[in-house]
Amino acid sequence: MSRLVVVSNRVTLPQKSGDAPAGGLAVALQAALEERGGIWMGWSGKSSGAGEPAPLSLQEHGNITYALTDLTKTDVEEYYHGFANRVLWPICHYRLDLAEYGRKEMAGYFRVNRFFAHRLAPLLEEDDIIWVHDYHLIPLAAELRQMGLKNRIGFFLHIPWPPADVLFTMPVHEEIMRGLSHYDLVGFQTDHDLDNFGGGLVREGIGERLSEGKFTSYGRTFKGGFYSIGIETAAFAEFARNAANNAIVRKARQSVEGRDLIIGVDRLDYSKGITQRIDAFEHFIKSNPGHHNRVTYLQITPKSRSEVPEYEQMQRMVAEQAGRVNGAIGTVDWVPIRYINRSIGRPVLAGLYRLARIGLVTPLRDGMNLVAKEYVAAQDPENPGVLVLSRFAGAARELRGALLVNPYDIEGTANAIARGINMPLEERKERWGRMMEHLLEHDVTRWCDDFLKDLTAA
Ligand code: UDP
Repeated sequence: MSRLVVVSNRVTLPQKSGDAPAGGLAVALQAALEERGGIWMGWSGKSSGAGEPAPLSLQEHGNITYALTDLTKTDVEEYYHGFANRVLWPICHYRLDLAEYGRKEMAGYFRVNRFFAHRLAPLLEEDDIIWVHDYHLIPLAAELRQMGLKNRIGFFLHIPWPPADVLFTMPVHEEIMRGLSHYDLVGFQTDHDLDNFGGGLVREGIGERLSEGKFTSYGRTFKGGFYSIGIETAAFAEFARNAANNAIVRKARQSVEGRDLIIGVDRLDYSKGITQRIDAFEHFIKSNPGHHNRVTYLQITPKSRSEVPEYEQMQRMVAEQAGRVNGAIGTVDWVPIRYINRSIGRPVLAGLYRLARIGLVTPLRDGMNLVAKEYVAAQDPENPGVLVLSRFAGAARELRGALLVNPYDIEGTANAIARGINMPLEERKERWGRMMEHLLEHDVTRWCDDFLKDLTAA
């Protein structure tokens, strides 16, 4: 079996005893690497300042080599904060208004990809299979090919892929599309993302869609597919069962005693629709006076990317909005919205999901949304809660037992909350059962195996 080489912006090093458990993606990739032996390369998360980064730091664990590189301060600014997070992220989430193009940042993005390629190439063997992850590293294959590498290289995009009219507002869209054509397999989260990609190629006359999932563009033929990422379903359900005795979960249970809990869990990001969600909750309370003092909405929102001004601004906006709604509809003995700005470990989250009658997952756009899947996996089969899910999350293509909503429709989302709260047990069980069956079959290990099988055959 060929070795596997995983390249991603950030690398998850193996857990030390006492560490919080790694997320499902890291566990699945580590298992695939262990099976085949190989390398996981990426940015260390550290900056070397103005000086040249030190040579790769190599750490061996069993048959896996972790290869980490620092980046200069300018590289971090231009490649990571600049182009990846302020151009590709908003564009891929359909937010043209938030994209900030700058030649310097675009050049930095391509330069760092070249740098990654030059650091990776000496570690590679002829028949290694290379799997590149996510929007930070789209041009990596082109750089490796430029150096003469003929290895099989696959790419998986964890975020959405927008339609041509959105993508093509980006000045370097041609280079990005050309970059993708250098892979042997390009994987997206959903059929919609794949269609957007194929549609863009064809409409702009830069490629064609062939049979059997193949595309041709810029003189290369490659495969495209969709591989909806899963979670470690069985393990997550186990976390949730075991969390009942956790002190934080116990306190949470006591504090919502006699009320229905609604839970939202999202990194602070404009793509998550948090402000629309708070509006919907407020509307639900105002239009359902019977639920006054009978529900608590817990929104867990760790800060992210605080260096980007939009995120800092949003942090203030959401906190103010939650405060305003609490002031307007709360009473001396009822705080309707609990807003927490800290990250919570996944085993505890699992317990909180299980307490919640409603999982409120309403992003404006999301590649997949693992929280939606975790919420389902965490439920008590005898008394499951209801998932209220945005139709614009990748997960909506799979989780047919959810109440699907359009997060821009505040009244519609409020109605779905009311329907979820009042849903009879039999219907809740039936909807949950369908989703859980799907998630057990399509877990993260299956996702990883499916992608690697197709890459090997591509
Ligand atoms: N998460 C966490 N602690 C928190 C909030 C979120 O561990 O306080 C985890 C959550 O369990 C999920 C991931 O972060 O596994 C978020 O993934 P998702 O696909 O929903 O969104 P992303 O942040 O990748 O856009």
